[in-house]
Amino acid sequence: MLTGTNKISNILLIYTGGTIGMIEDDQSGSYLPFSVESVLRFVPRLSELDVSLSVVSFDKPLDSAHVGLNEWLKIKNLVCDNYQDYDGFVILHGTDTMAFSASAVGFLLQGLNKPVIFTGSQLPISKVRSDAHENLVTAIEIAIAQKNGKPNVPEVAVFFDKNLYRAVRSTKDNAENFDAFSSPNYPVLATAGVNIKFNKAFITPFSEKRISPLMHIEKNVVILKLFPGIDDRFIKQNVSAPWVKGIVLETFGTGTVNLSVDSIEVLKTAINNGVLIYAVSQCNIGSVEIGKYKSSSVLKEIGVLSGSDITSEAALVKLMVVLGNYSDNKEIESLLISNWIGELTEV
Ligand code: ASP
Repeated sequence: MLTGTNKISNILLIYTGGTIGMIEDDQSGSYLPFSVESVLRFVPRLSELDVSLSVVSFDKPLDSAHVGLNEWLKIKNLVCDNYQDYDGFVILHGTDTMAFSASAVGFLLQGLNKPVIFTGSQLPISKVRSDAHENLVTAIEIAIAQKNGKPNVPEVAVFFDKNLYRAVRSTKDNAENFDAFSSPNYPVLATAGVNIKFNKAFITPFSEKRISPLMHIEKNVVILKLFPGIDDRFIKQNVSAPWVKGIVLETFGTGTVNLSVDSIEVLKTAINNGVLIYAVSQCNIGSVEIGKYKSSSVLKEIGVLSGSDITSEAALVKLMVVLGNYSDNKEIESLLISNWIGELTEV
């Protein structure tokens, strides 16, 4: 861990990998994860911010394609183990799976009342045109922003390009532009221009609660995306696999499905055997409304739960976290259909 000079706010920077710190392999030209030192070397003026910055890095920085359940727990543990010593946390992470990781950390860190800001970049920080510098500096500024001694953003969020998004509402929707993320069903929490403007009405209010992190994640959860012509055998293989405990069902539009009578029976049997099926929409904007059309009402009849306007990323990790930490079926169902930490709009 590197420690900077003692100034106003203490921030812990957690480096997990991602393009931000990658270097180009001389032979193949591919980007490879490198070190946190390579990131900080390119932002020498960080020391001019009103912040005492400590840095901790994953031993082996990862392309976020390889970040999964163990790493989510590792990030959660790093935040919890250092919680009392810091005013906020900035997580440097690859963009490809950032929405999953940030959502998972959001659900795991129950009772959070400090900023945990994920960021990264589309180009390595070593590139002259890189977006890394702006993203890193602004993420730190957001993490230290306070009013009357209380943090402006006491929740897990993703800062990218000019916008701050609620973690459990964020999605990576652009692999080309610098504004790689969006939050299709929830307003941005802040916008960074000449000034950083916080959208207070939409940020989780500060409360004097104690952090009470959840410890487990259930890994036997899958996403099943429907498509025209989907074969009954494919549905059966996925839904009746004995190890599957939860399924995010990506339905069309507002929740319509093209399931045959046989496939409905497969889903019904799975639900009766304790598998949780959580319906989300394949559309970015809008919400599942089971029963709005005849071709979705069957989901209600067999006990599929509605995820309203939750993203697929947040739905997957919410199922994993709920199944990992709760055992009472009624409690699990109620958590899934309700708004827990701002991930869905209750109807
Ligand atoms: N493949 C990289 C990653 O997700 C992409 C990035 O960071 O932008 O780690």
